[in-house]
This record gives sequence, structure tokens and C-alpha cells, in this order.
Amino acid sequence: MRATVMYAAGDVRVEDVPDAAIEQPTDAVVRVTLACICGSDLWPYASMERSENGQSMGHEAIGVVEDVGSQVTTVRKGDVVVMPFAFSDGTCAFCHEGLPTACVHVGFFGTNGMNGAQAEALRIPLADGTLYPLPVGEDDALMPSLLTLSDVMGTGHHAAVVARVAPGKRAAVVGDGAVGLCAVIAARRLGAEQIIIMGRHPDRIALARDFGATDVVSERGEAAVERVRELTGGDGVHSVLECVGHGASIETAIGIARPGGAVGRVGVPQHTEMPGSLPAFYGNITIGGGPAPVRAYLDELLPDVLEGRIDPSRVFDRTVDLDGVPDGYRAMADRESIKVMVTP
Ligand SMILES: [Zn+2]
Repeated sequence: MRATVMYAAGDVRVEDVPDAAIEQPTDAVVRVTLACICGSDLWPYASMERSENGQSMGHEAIGVVEDVGSQVTTVRKGDVVVMPFAFSDGTCAFCHEGLPTACVHVGFFGTNGMNGAQAEALRIPLADGTLYPLPVGEDDALMPSLLTLSDVMGTGHHAAVVARVAPGKRAAVVGDGAVGLCAVIAARRLGAEQIIIMGRHPDRIALARDFGATDVVSERGEAAVERVRELTGGDGVHSVLECVGHGASIETAIGIARPGGAVGRVGVPQHTEMPGSLPAFYGNITIGGGPAPVRAYLDELLPDVLEGRIDPSRVFDRTVDLDGVPDGYRAMADRESIKVMVTP
């Protein structure tokens, strides 16, 4: 079968690899019908050191179950499923508490040697806890929207939950990538009265406005903090949805939070140290977040997609086949495309 392999920064290839197959009795094999390229794939695309064997890429997909191991009971061959970006057993304390990304058996697709979803098929460990069957056919028109439940829509929702977005509150979204745009959807869905999008790409800002952003701040650094304060009566926002992960974006996020407010971080941190310790302390600002438990959010988000109340598929502005994946990485890295969908 064919799959996407990254060998070094900027070196993404589509290659013939051994067919995905059952290795453990708890595995399933999924034939990928739709996948996509993630903003977080751009971090290794910018910085990965050369690797002889490469890393299989991709962690977002919808597909059809092709085969299941002998102990799999909740999905069967032929089921249309969405896969979360992490696998989890569904049975440990953390899975029961709604945090499957902290599962005692967690693993992340397309990293550390795990197979990735930008491929014709992939092996899903712990299929019972991981895969989520969908009540639609594989060619349903809602597939691009459902695909976002693999990661970006669930991740934007997580930022909103951790930042305690609630009716009547003010929120700001730091970052205008696909996760930031989905965070706007999530903030509106949870009832925020004011939603400030912080970004500077005109096409992304326009989409954010369609999704419910009420204000735009395109400044950066101190100027951005001042602008948000102007827009919020001097106080800052109750909820900051941090969807980038750079030191500068976290510093901005803390700078625009209202005293007593909360920052929900979902951008993968690119630095080991977190800035803003003093302002966060003196503002009594809660800082939380991490890898979104998207598997646990499916029950809540799925009906809104199926019934058309939200349409996160609009973050996809380009579609490629597998051969087009390397150019898809380039297009996203060059900010030519917000998010690229892949049809293997
Ligand atoms: Zn678990």
C-alpha cells in the first residue's frame, strides 16, 4: 500500500510500504477514505532531523473497517469510522474520566514510529476504545465536516472548554489556523457574547467572521494586548483559546486574559519554558489544556455536525490525492492553504 513518510524537514515522500495488518487481537485495520494534513505536522516539516527510516505521517482520518482482531467487539468489518488522533483503551480510569489522551495505554498516530493516516490504510491499536462508528455511508456529503472530529474541531472545542467559555462571556482566539478557526466555532457554540480572533490572514479572518468572530485583532505583541483591552472595556477577556503554541502566543494569551480568567492551551508547545509567570500569578489566571480528548467529545459534537448546526469542513480549502501530499505540506507551510484534505 502507499503511505506518506517524512525523512527530514521539508522531505515528505509517498511510498510503497507493507500493507497495514492486524498485529494484536485488539487491533483493527482501517481503509482510509479521507485524511488531512495538520498544522502540527508542520512542526516536524520545519525542524525534523534526518531519519534513515523516516516517520509515517498523519493522525486524522475517516475510513472503513477492513479487518478486526479476535478480541474486537465494538466495530466490525464494513463500519464507517472516525479515528481520533490518539488511541486509547476506553477502560482505564482516565478514559472513564473523559481524558483518553491521558489513557494508561495512549499512543499518538504518526509519531514515534506509529503508523500514520496519510495513507491508503492504517493499523488501529485498541480499536474498541479508539474507533468511533459513524451513522453515515462512506460517501456522505458531511464527510469533510466529520473528518474534523478527528482532531481540529475537537481540539478547538477543548480550548473553549478549558478556557471556560460560557454564555455572555468574552473570549479571544489566538491563532487563525484550522484549530483557531474551529475554536471560534466552539466559542460561539458555547455561547460567548464577544469573540475576538487574533490573526492577520484576510481569508482566514473572513472565515472566522463567518464562524462567529465579532472582532479582529491583527496586531502582535504588546500592541495586540492593548487592542484587546480597548475592545473589552480595559479588562481583557474571560476566556483565551491559545491555538498556536509559540512562546509569544502564550505570552499574548496571558496578557489579554481578564483577572480571574482562563487560558485553554491546545497549540503544541514549541518551547519547554512557559512565559508569563508573573502576570498569570498576579491576575489569578488559570492556565490549562493539552492534547484534546477528542474521542470523549464525539458524543457531544457529532449531532451538531450531523444536523448542520456547525460546518467545520470550511477549514479545508484544498484537496489532494496521495501523490499531492508533499505539495500539500508545502502549501500549508507557505500559508497558501489553511488545511489540506487528502483523498487516498
Ligand atoms: Zn484508557
